[in-house]
Amino acid sequence: MQKVIQTHAKAADIFCRDESRVDWHSKALWVLREKRDRAASSLPEWETLRALGSQIKLHTLNQLPGYLEAFEAKCLSQGVKVHWAKDGAEHNRIVHDILSRHGVKKLVKSKSMLTEECHLNPFLEGKGIEVIDTDLGERIIQLNHQPPSHIVVPAIHMKKEEVGDLFHEKLGTPKGESDPTRLTRAARAHLREQFLSADAAMTGVNMAVASEGAVIVCTNEGNADMGANLPKLQLHSMGIDKIVPDLDSAAVLLRMLARNATGQPITTYSSLYRTPKPGGEMHVIIVDNGRSAMMRDKLLGEALKCIRCGGCLNTCPVYRRSGGYSYGHTIPGPIGIAVGADEDDTHSSPWACTLCGSCSFVCPTKVPLDKIIFHRRRLYAERKSLPYGKSGYMPLVGRFMASPLLLDTGMAAARIALKILPHSLLKPMSGAWGKYRELPAAPGSSFEGWVKKNRPELLVKSKGEK
Ligand code: SF4
Repeated sequence: MQKVIQTHAKAADIFCRDESRVDWHSKALWVLREKRDRAASSLPEWETLRALGSQIKLHTLNQLPGYLEAFEAKCLSQGVKVHWAKDGAEHNRIVHDILSRHGVKKLVKSKSMLTEECHLNPFLEGKGIEVIDTDLGERIIQLNHQPPSHIVVPAIHMKKEEVGDLFHEKLGTPKGESDPTRLTRAARAHLREQFLSADAAMTGVNMAVASEGAVIVCTNEGNADMGANLPKLQLHSMGIDKIVPDLDSAAVLLRMLARNATGQPITTYSSLYRTPKPGGEMHVIIVDNGRSAMMRDKLLGEALKCIRCGGCLNTCPVYRRSGGYSYGHTIPGPIGIAVGADEDDTHSSPWACTLCGSCSFVCPTKVPLDKIIFHRRRLYAERKSLPYGKSGYMPLVGRFMASPLLLDTGMAAARIALKILPHSLLKPMSGAWGKYRELPAAPGSSFEGWVKKNRPELLVKSKGEK
Protein backbone atom coordinates (compact mmCIF):
# COMPACT_ATOMS: atom_id res chain seq x y z
CA MET A 1 0.00 0.00 0.00
CA GLN A 2 1.21 3.48 -0.89
CA LYS A 3 2.45 5.35 2.18
CA VAL A 4 2.38 9.08 2.78
CA ILE A 5 5.84 10.50 3.38
CA GLN A 6 5.19 14.21 3.82
CA THR A 7 2.52 16.10 5.70
CA HIS A 8 -0.49 17.41 3.82
CA ALA A 9 0.60 21.00 4.48
CA LYS A 10 4.07 20.38 2.97
CA ALA A 11 2.64 18.65 -0.10
CA ALA A 12 0.00 21.38 -0.48
CA ASP A 13 2.78 23.95 -0.33
CA ILE A 14 4.20 22.48 -3.58
CA PHE A 15 0.82 22.77 -5.34
CA CYS A 16 0.18 26.26 -3.95
CA ARG A 17 3.42 27.68 -5.43
CA ASP A 18 1.68 27.96 -8.82
CA GLU A 19 -1.06 30.40 -7.82
CA SER A 20 -2.66 30.56 -11.27
CA ARG A 21 -3.03 26.77 -11.26
CA VAL A 22 -4.62 26.89 -7.81
CA ASP A 23 -7.18 29.46 -9.01
CA TRP A 24 -7.95 27.53 -12.17
CA HIS A 25 -8.19 24.18 -10.31
CA SER A 26 -10.51 25.66 -7.71
CA LYS A 27 -12.77 27.26 -10.34
CA ALA A 28 -12.90 24.09 -12.49
CA LEU A 29 -14.15 22.09 -9.52
CA TRP A 30 -16.55 24.78 -8.42
CA VAL A 31 -18.17 24.59 -11.88
CA LEU A 32 -18.93 20.93 -11.11
CA ARG A 33 -20.34 21.89 -7.71
CA GLU A 34 -22.63 24.46 -9.36
CA LYS A 35 -23.83 21.90 -11.91
CA ARG A 36 -24.49 19.50 -9.04
CA ASP A 37 -26.56 22.13 -7.24
CA ARG A 38 -28.67 22.78 -10.33
CA ALA A 39 -29.22 19.04 -10.91
CA ALA A 40 -30.10 18.40 -7.27
CA SER A 41 -32.53 21.29 -7.04
CA SER A 42 -34.28 20.13 -10.23
CA LEU A 43 -35.55 17.10 -8.30
CA PRO A 44 -38.13 18.02 -5.64
CA GLU A 45 -37.52 14.62 -4.03
CA TRP A 46 -33.75 15.12 -3.76
CA GLU A 47 -33.64 15.14 0.05
CA THR A 48 -35.93 12.11 0.16
CA LEU A 49 -33.55 10.31 -2.20
CA ARG A 50 -30.60 11.21 0.04
CA ALA A 51 -32.37 9.87 3.11
CA LEU A 52 -33.32 6.71 1.23
CA GLY A 53 -29.81 6.30 -0.18
CA SER A 54 -28.33 6.57 3.30
CA GLN A 55 -30.80 4.03 4.69
CA ILE A 56 -30.16 1.58 1.85
CA LYS A 57 -26.42 1.69 2.36
CA LEU A 58 -26.65 1.46 6.16
CA HIS A 59 -29.11 -1.41 5.97
CA THR A 60 -26.88 -3.32 3.55
CA LEU A 61 -23.70 -2.68 5.53
CA ASN A 62 -25.43 -3.96 8.67
CA GLN A 63 -26.32 -7.19 6.88
CA LEU A 64 -23.28 -7.49 4.68
CA PRO A 65 -22.48 -11.21 5.03
CA GLY A 66 -26.02 -12.22 4.04
CA TYR A 67 -26.12 -9.95 0.99
CA LEU A 68 -22.62 -10.94 -0.16
CA GLU A 69 -23.49 -14.63 0.11
CA ALA A 70 -26.75 -14.11 -1.79
CA PHE A 71 -24.83 -12.22 -4.48
CA GLU A 72 -22.24 -15.00 -4.76
CA ALA A 73 -24.89 -17.74 -4.98
CA LYS A 74 -26.75 -15.91 -7.75
CA CYS A 75 -23.52 -15.25 -9.66
CA LEU A 76 -22.49 -18.91 -9.47
CA SER A 77 -25.92 -20.02 -10.67
CA GLN A 78 -25.44 -17.81 -13.75
CA GLY A 79 -21.99 -19.18 -14.57
CA VAL A 80 -20.00 -16.27 -13.11
CA LYS A 81 -16.87 -17.16 -11.12
CA VAL A 82 -16.53 -15.39 -7.76
CA HIS A 83 -13.28 -14.84 -5.85
CA TRP A 84 -12.68 -13.38 -2.40
CA ALA A 85 -9.64 -11.28 -1.52
CA LYS A 86 -8.82 -10.16 2.01
CA ASP A 87 -6.40 -7.45 0.84
CA GLY A 88 -4.82 -5.78 -2.18
CA ALA A 89 -2.03 -8.34 -2.47
CA GLU A 90 -4.49 -11.24 -2.62
CA HIS A 91 -6.63 -9.35 -5.15
CA ASN A 92 -3.62 -8.84 -7.40
CA ARG A 93 -2.58 -12.49 -7.11
CA ILE A 94 -6.09 -13.66 -8.06
CA VAL A 95 -6.20 -11.34 -11.07
CA HIS A 96 -2.77 -12.46 -12.20
CA ASP A 97 -3.68 -16.15 -11.84
CA ILE A 98 -6.77 -15.69 -14.02
CA LEU A 99 -4.88 -13.71 -16.65
CA SER A 100 -1.92 -16.07 -16.80
CA ARG A 101 -4.21 -19.12 -17.10
CA HIS A 102 -5.57 -17.50 -20.27
CA GLY A 103 -2.17 -16.36 -21.55
CA VAL A 104 -3.22 -12.69 -21.42
CA LYS A 105 -0.57 -10.25 -22.61
CA LYS A 106 -2.70 -7.10 -22.80
CA LEU A 107 -5.51 -6.04 -20.43
CA VAL A 108 -7.82 -3.08 -21.06
CA LYS A 109 -9.13 -1.60 -17.85
CA SER A 110 -11.86 0.94 -17.18
CA LYS A 111 -11.58 3.30 -14.24
CA SER A 112 -11.50 1.55 -10.91
CA MET A 113 -10.33 3.26 -7.73
CA LEU A 114 -10.15 -0.19 -6.11
CA THR A 115 -7.47 -1.38 -8.54
CA GLU A 116 -5.63 1.91 -7.84
CA GLU A 117 -5.96 1.17 -4.13
CA CYS A 118 -4.49 -2.33 -4.72
CA HIS A 119 -1.73 -0.97 -7.03
CA LEU A 120 -2.73 -3.51 -9.65
CA ASN A 121 -1.11 -1.81 -12.67
CA PRO A 122 2.51 -1.89 -11.44
CA PHE A 123 1.96 -5.43 -10.13
CA LEU A 124 0.76 -6.75 -13.50
CA GLU A 125 3.31 -4.78 -15.45
CA GLY A 126 5.99 -6.36 -13.27
CA LYS A 127 4.67 -9.73 -14.44
CA GLY A 128 4.93 -8.76 -18.10
CA ILE A 129 1.23 -7.93 -18.69
CA GLU A 130 0.49 -4.64 -20.42
CA VAL A 131 -2.35 -2.71 -18.74
CA ILE A 132 -4.16 0.01 -20.70
CA ASP A 133 -6.44 2.36 -18.76
CA THR A 134 -9.24 3.25 -21.15
CA ASP A 135 -11.06 6.11 -19.44
CA LEU A 136 -9.73 9.23 -21.21
CA GLY A 137 -8.63 10.97 -18.01
CA GLU A 138 -7.05 7.77 -16.69
CA ARG A 139 -5.21 7.21 -19.98
CA ILE A 140 -3.86 10.77 -19.85
CA ILE A 141 -2.38 10.30 -16.39
CA GLN A 142 -1.19 6.80 -17.21
CA LEU A 143 0.76 8.23 -20.16
CA ASN A 144 2.03 10.91 -17.75
CA HIS A 145 3.03 8.25 -15.17
CA GLN A 146 0.79 9.70 -12.46
CA PRO A 147 -1.98 8.32 -10.23
CA PRO A 148 -5.47 9.92 -10.35
CA SER A 149 -5.77 13.25 -8.57
CA HIS A 150 -9.58 13.02 -8.36
CA ILE A 151 -11.88 10.01 -8.18
CA VAL A 152 -14.20 11.07 -11.03
CA VAL A 153 -12.07 13.46 -13.12
CA PRO A 154 -8.64 11.91 -12.59
CA ALA A 155 -6.65 14.36 -14.75
CA ILE A 156 -8.35 17.52 -13.46
CA HIS A 157 -4.96 18.90 -12.37
CA MET A 158 -3.72 19.05 -15.99
CA LYS A 159 -4.37 21.95 -18.35
CA LYS A 160 -5.36 21.21 -21.96
CA GLU A 161 -2.02 22.61 -23.20
CA GLU A 162 -0.21 20.09 -21.00
CA VAL A 163 -2.37 17.28 -22.37
CA GLY A 164 -1.55 18.55 -25.89
CA ASP A 165 2.20 18.35 -25.19
CA LEU A 166 1.80 14.87 -23.72
CA PHE A 167 -0.23 13.60 -26.69
CA HIS A 168 2.29 15.14 -29.10
CA GLU A 169 5.04 13.17 -27.39
CA LYS A 170 3.16 9.88 -26.88
CA LEU A 171 0.51 9.77 -29.62
CA GLY A 172 2.11 11.92 -32.31
CA THR A 173 -0.55 14.69 -32.42
CA PRO A 174 0.62 17.97 -34.02
CA LYS A 175 2.88 20.12 -31.84
CA GLY A 176 0.95 22.87 -30.05
CA GLU A 177 -2.43 21.15 -30.55
CA SER A 178 -4.57 21.85 -27.48
CA ASP A 179 -8.10 21.72 -28.87
CA PRO A 180 -9.99 19.34 -26.56
CA THR A 181 -12.14 17.90 -29.38
CA ARG A 182 -9.16 17.10 -31.60
CA LEU A 183 -7.20 15.70 -28.67
CA THR A 184 -10.16 13.52 -27.68
CA ARG A 185 -10.44 12.22 -31.26
CA ALA A 186 -6.75 11.31 -31.24
CA ALA A 187 -7.19 9.50 -27.91
CA ARG A 188 -10.24 7.66 -29.22
CA ALA A 189 -8.37 6.41 -32.30
CA HIS A 190 -5.48 5.28 -30.10
CA LEU A 191 -7.81 3.53 -27.64
CA ARG A 192 -9.73 1.72 -30.41
CA GLU A 193 -6.51 -0.06 -31.34
CA GLN A 194 -6.01 -1.06 -27.72
CA PHE A 195 -9.56 -2.43 -27.39
CA LEU A 196 -9.22 -4.47 -30.55
CA SER A 197 -5.88 -5.98 -29.57
CA ALA A 198 -6.62 -6.74 -25.89
CA ASP A 199 -6.92 -10.31 -24.59
CA ALA A 200 -9.03 -9.45 -21.54
CA ALA A 201 -11.00 -6.57 -19.99
CA MET A 202 -11.37 -5.43 -16.42
CA THR A 203 -13.77 -2.93 -14.90
CA GLY A 204 -14.53 -1.50 -11.50
CA VAL A 205 -18.03 -1.92 -10.05
CA ASN A 206 -20.31 0.94 -9.09
CA MET A 207 -22.90 -1.36 -7.53
CA ALA A 208 -23.33 -5.12 -7.18
CA VAL A 209 -26.96 -6.20 -7.06
CA ALA A 210 -27.43 -9.11 -4.64
CA SER A 211 -30.83 -10.25 -5.93
CA GLU A 212 -29.61 -10.38 -9.56
CA GLY A 213 -25.99 -11.48 -9.21
CA ALA A 214 -25.24 -8.51 -11.47
CA VAL A 215 -22.60 -5.81 -11.42
CA ILE A 216 -23.41 -2.28 -12.55
CA VAL A 217 -20.69 -0.29 -14.29
CA CYS A 218 -21.15 3.43 -15.04
CA THR A 219 -19.07 5.39 -17.53
CA ASN A 220 -19.55 8.42 -19.74
CA GLU A 221 -17.32 7.21 -22.53
CA GLY A 222 -18.59 3.66 -22.99
CA ASN A 223 -15.05 2.44 -22.47
CA ALA A 224 -15.99 -0.25 -19.94
CA ASP A 225 -18.53 -1.65 -22.41
CA MET A 226 -16.09 -1.53 -25.34
CA GLY A 227 -13.64 -3.47 -23.18
CA ALA A 228 -16.02 -5.97 -21.62
CA ASN A 229 -17.80 -6.81 -24.87
CA LEU A 230 -14.80 -7.49 -27.10
CA PRO A 231 -12.53 -10.13 -25.49
CA LYS A 232 -13.92 -13.40 -24.16
CA LEU A 233 -12.48 -12.84 -20.69
CA GLN A 234 -13.94 -10.15 -18.43
CA LEU A 235 -13.06 -9.35 -14.81
CA HIS A 236 -14.81 -7.05 -12.36
CA SER A 237 -13.22 -5.92 -9.08
CA MET A 238 -15.45 -4.67 -6.27
CA GLY A 239 -15.09 -3.68 -2.64
CA ILE A 240 -17.43 -5.48 -0.22
CA ASP A 241 -19.19 -2.13 0.31
CA LYS A 242 -20.50 -2.02 -3.28
CA ILE A 243 -23.30 -4.49 -2.65
CA VAL A 244 -26.95 -3.31 -2.76
CA PRO A 245 -29.98 -5.53 -2.12
CA ASP A 246 -31.91 -5.19 -5.39
CA LEU A 247 -32.53 -3.18 -8.54
CA ASP A 248 -34.85 -0.70 -6.78
CA SER A 249 -32.04 0.16 -4.35
CA ALA A 250 -29.60 0.51 -7.22
CA ALA A 251 -32.04 2.85 -9.00
CA VAL A 252 -32.15 5.20 -5.99
CA LEU A 253 -28.36 5.46 -5.94
CA LEU A 254 -28.08 5.73 -9.74
CA ARG A 255 -30.43 8.72 -9.73
CA MET A 256 -28.01 10.54 -7.44
CA LEU A 257 -24.60 9.32 -8.60
CA ALA A 258 -24.14 11.32 -11.81
CA ARG A 259 -26.22 14.27 -10.63
CA ASN A 260 -23.93 14.69 -7.65
CA ALA A 261 -20.77 14.08 -9.68
CA THR A 262 -21.16 16.16 -12.82
CA GLY A 263 -24.74 17.40 -12.81
CA GLN A 264 -25.87 14.85 -15.43
CA PRO A 265 -29.24 13.10 -14.94
CA ILE A 266 -27.45 9.75 -15.27
CA THR A 267 -24.11 8.50 -16.58
CA THR A 268 -24.17 8.05 -20.36
CA TYR A 269 -23.63 4.29 -19.99
CA SER A 270 -24.96 2.43 -16.95
CA SER A 271 -24.53 -1.25 -17.83
CA LEU A 272 -25.43 -4.44 -15.98
CA TYR A 273 -23.31 -7.57 -16.43
CA ARG A 274 -24.49 -10.86 -15.04
CA THR A 275 -23.45 -13.73 -17.32
CA PRO A 276 -20.35 -14.60 -19.29
CA LYS A 277 -20.63 -14.20 -23.03
CA PRO A 278 -20.95 -17.47 -25.03
CA GLY A 279 -17.65 -19.31 -24.84
CA GLY A 280 -16.25 -16.68 -22.48
CA GLU A 281 -15.59 -16.27 -18.76
CA MET A 282 -16.77 -13.63 -16.31
CA HIS A 283 -15.00 -13.25 -12.96
CA VAL A 284 -15.95 -11.06 -10.01
CA ILE A 285 -13.31 -10.40 -7.34
CA ILE A 286 -14.75 -9.25 -4.01
CA VAL A 287 -12.21 -7.35 -1.92
CA ASP A 288 -12.13 -6.42 1.76
CA ASN A 289 -8.78 -4.61 2.11
CA GLY A 290 -9.46 -3.00 5.48
CA ARG A 291 -13.17 -2.37 5.05
CA SER A 292 -14.31 -4.88 7.72
CA ALA A 293 -11.83 -3.37 10.17
CA MET A 294 -13.25 0.09 9.48
CA MET A 295 -16.77 -1.16 10.18
CA ARG A 296 -15.79 -2.10 13.75
CA ASP A 297 -15.88 1.65 14.53
CA LYS A 298 -19.49 2.73 14.04
CA LEU A 299 -18.67 6.23 12.82
CA LEU A 300 -15.75 5.25 10.56
CA GLY A 301 -17.94 2.48 9.14
CA GLU A 302 -20.35 5.11 7.81
CA ALA A 303 -17.65 6.09 5.31
CA LEU A 304 -18.55 2.84 3.51
CA LYS A 305 -21.87 4.39 2.50
CA CYS A 306 -19.87 6.32 -0.10
CA ILE A 307 -20.80 5.75 -3.75
CA ARG A 308 -17.69 7.58 -5.05
CA CYS A 309 -19.47 10.44 -6.80
CA GLY A 310 -16.66 12.87 -6.02
CA GLY A 311 -19.10 15.57 -4.86
CA CYS A 312 -17.28 16.09 -1.57
CA LEU A 313 -14.00 16.76 -3.40
CA ASN A 314 -15.59 19.31 -5.73
CA THR A 315 -16.97 21.36 -2.86
CA CYS A 316 -14.05 21.04 -0.40
CA PRO A 317 -12.20 24.37 -0.03
CA VAL A 318 -9.01 22.57 0.98
CA TYR A 319 -9.05 20.00 -1.84
CA ARG A 320 -9.83 22.65 -4.43
CA ARG A 321 -6.85 24.74 -3.33
CA SER A 322 -4.33 22.04 -2.49
CA GLY A 323 -4.84 19.47 -5.26
CA GLY A 324 -5.34 15.72 -5.05
CA TYR A 325 -1.69 14.77 -4.67
CA SER A 326 -1.31 16.67 -1.39
CA TYR A 327 -3.25 13.92 0.42
CA GLY A 328 -0.78 11.20 -0.54
CA HIS A 329 -3.51 8.55 -0.50
CA THR A 330 -5.19 6.92 -3.51
CA ILE A 331 -8.45 8.67 -2.67
CA PRO A 332 -8.03 12.37 -1.90
CA GLY A 333 -10.35 14.95 -0.39
CA PRO A 334 -12.79 14.51 2.50
CA ILE A 335 -13.72 10.92 1.66
CA GLY A 336 -10.02 10.15 1.21
CA ILE A 337 -9.34 11.31 4.77
CA ALA A 338 -12.32 9.32 6.03
CA VAL A 339 -11.25 6.03 4.43
CA GLY A 340 -7.50 6.49 4.04
CA ALA A 341 -6.13 8.27 7.11
CA ASP A 342 -4.66 5.00 8.38
CA GLU A 343 -2.34 4.98 5.37
CA ASP A 344 -0.95 8.38 6.35
CA ASP A 345 2.25 7.88 8.34
CA THR A 346 2.43 11.62 9.08
CA HIS A 347 -1.06 11.53 10.69
CA SER A 348 -1.62 14.96 9.17
CA SER A 349 -4.44 14.39 6.69
CA PRO A 350 -7.35 14.91 9.15
CA TRP A 351 -6.07 18.47 9.55
CA ALA A 352 -6.49 19.08 5.80
CA CYS A 353 -10.00 20.18 6.65
CA THR A 354 -11.69 23.34 7.91
CA LEU A 355 -14.58 21.29 9.39
CA CYS A 356 -16.90 23.56 7.38
CA GLY A 357 -19.21 20.59 6.70
CA SER A 358 -19.76 21.41 3.02
CA CYS A 359 -18.81 17.81 2.11
CA SER A 360 -21.44 16.30 4.40
CA PHE A 361 -23.98 18.78 3.06
CA VAL A 362 -23.55 17.63 -0.55
CA CYS A 363 -23.05 13.90 0.05
CA PRO A 364 -25.86 11.91 -1.61
CA THR A 365 -25.71 9.12 0.96
CA LYS A 366 -25.22 11.43 3.96
CA VAL A 367 -21.76 10.22 4.90
CA PRO A 368 -21.04 12.38 7.99
CA LEU A 369 -17.64 13.35 6.61
CA ASP A 370 -16.87 16.28 8.90
CA LYS A 371 -17.77 14.21 11.96
CA ILE A 372 -15.59 11.33 10.75
CA ILE A 373 -12.66 13.66 10.11
CA PHE A 374 -13.05 15.21 13.57
CA HIS A 375 -13.26 11.68 15.00
CA ARG A 376 -10.00 10.81 13.21
CA ARG A 377 -8.33 13.75 15.00
CA ARG A 378 -9.71 12.59 18.33
CA LEU A 379 -8.45 9.04 17.72
CA TYR A 380 -4.94 10.36 17.07
CA ALA A 381 -5.08 12.47 20.23
CA GLU A 382 -6.33 9.53 22.32
CA ARG A 383 -3.59 7.28 20.93
CA LYS A 384 -1.08 10.07 21.62
CA SER A 385 -0.07 10.06 17.98
CA LEU A 386 -0.84 13.61 16.95
CA PRO A 387 1.24 14.77 13.99
CA TYR A 388 4.69 16.21 14.63
CA GLY A 389 4.38 19.66 16.24
CA LYS A 390 0.72 19.39 17.19
CA SER A 391 1.48 17.04 20.08
CA GLY A 392 3.64 19.83 21.55
CA TYR A 393 1.39 22.81 21.17
CA MET A 394 -2.15 21.43 21.12
CA PRO A 395 -2.27 20.80 24.90
CA LEU A 396 -1.08 24.40 25.38
CA VAL A 397 -3.76 25.66 23.00
CA GLY A 398 -6.31 23.68 25.01
CA ARG A 399 -5.24 25.36 28.27
CA PHE A 400 -5.14 28.75 26.56
CA MET A 401 -8.67 28.37 25.20
CA ALA A 402 -9.99 27.10 28.52
CA SER A 403 -8.96 30.35 30.25
CA PRO A 404 -11.16 33.37 29.36
CA LEU A 405 -8.45 35.75 30.63
CA LEU A 406 -5.67 34.21 28.52
CA LEU A 407 -7.92 33.90 25.47
CA ASP A 408 -9.15 37.53 25.65
CA THR A 409 -5.62 38.86 26.17
CA GLY A 410 -4.19 36.69 23.39
CA MET A 411 -6.89 37.67 20.92
CA ALA A 412 -6.51 41.36 21.76
CA ALA A 413 -2.76 41.04 21.11
CA ALA A 414 -3.45 39.29 17.80
CA ARG A 415 -5.84 42.07 16.70
CA ILE A 416 -3.22 44.69 17.48
CA ALA A 417 -0.51 42.69 15.67
CA LEU A 418 -2.75 42.34 12.58
CA LYS A 419 -3.32 46.11 12.60
CA ILE A 420 0.18 47.41 13.17
CA LEU A 421 2.62 44.82 11.88
CA PRO A 422 3.27 44.41 8.15
CA HIS A 423 1.59 41.30 6.80
CA SER A 424 4.87 40.27 5.14
CA LEU A 425 6.21 39.78 8.67
CA LEU A 426 3.22 37.80 9.92
CA LYS A 427 2.56 35.55 6.92
CA PRO A 428 5.70 33.40 7.22
CA MET A 429 4.42 32.47 10.69
CA SER A 430 1.15 31.15 9.31
CA GLY A 431 2.64 27.87 8.06
CA ALA A 432 2.95 26.15 4.69
CA TRP A 433 -0.72 26.68 3.94
CA GLY A 434 -1.17 30.17 5.37
CA LYS A 435 1.60 31.85 3.45
CA TYR A 436 -0.45 31.61 0.25
CA ARG A 437 -3.56 33.13 1.83
CA GLU A 438 -4.33 36.75 2.69
CA LEU A 439 -4.48 37.54 6.37
CA PRO A 440 -7.88 38.74 7.55
CA ALA A 441 -8.52 42.41 8.35
CA ALA A 442 -8.42 42.77 12.13
CA PRO A 443 -11.89 43.26 13.63
CA GLY A 444 -12.35 46.28 15.87
CA SER A 445 -13.19 44.16 18.91
CA SER A 446 -13.76 40.59 20.05
CA PHE A 447 -17.05 38.91 19.15
CA GLU A 448 -18.13 39.18 22.77
CA GLY A 449 -17.31 42.90 22.72
CA TRP A 450 -19.32 43.32 19.51
CA VAL A 451 -22.35 41.57 21.05
CA LYS A 452 -22.11 43.67 24.23
CA LYS A 453 -22.13 46.83 22.15
CA ASN A 454 -24.61 45.92 19.41
CA ARG A 455 -26.89 43.18 20.76
CA PRO A 456 -26.80 43.45 24.59
CA GLU A 457 -30.26 41.88 24.81
CA LEU A 458 -28.74 38.57 23.70
CA LEU A 459 -26.42 38.50 26.71
CA VAL A 460 -29.28 39.30 29.11
CA LYS A 461 -31.39 36.59 27.50
CA SER A 462 -28.71 33.94 27.69
CA LYS A 463 -27.98 34.84 31.33
CA GLY A 464 -31.69 34.68 32.05
CA GLU A 465 -31.93 31.27 30.44
CA LYS A 466 -29.20 29.99 32.66
S1 SF4 B 1 -18.47 10.68 0.53
FE1 SF4 B 1 -20.41 11.23 -0.41
S2 SF4 B 1 -19.95 13.07 -1.63
FE2 SF4 B 1 -17.98 12.08 -1.17
S3 SF4 B 1 -17.56 10.76 -2.91
FE3 SF4 B 1 -18.62 9.53 -1.38
S4 SF4 B 1 -20.79 9.63 -1.91
FE4 SF4 B 1 -19.77 11.29 -3.00
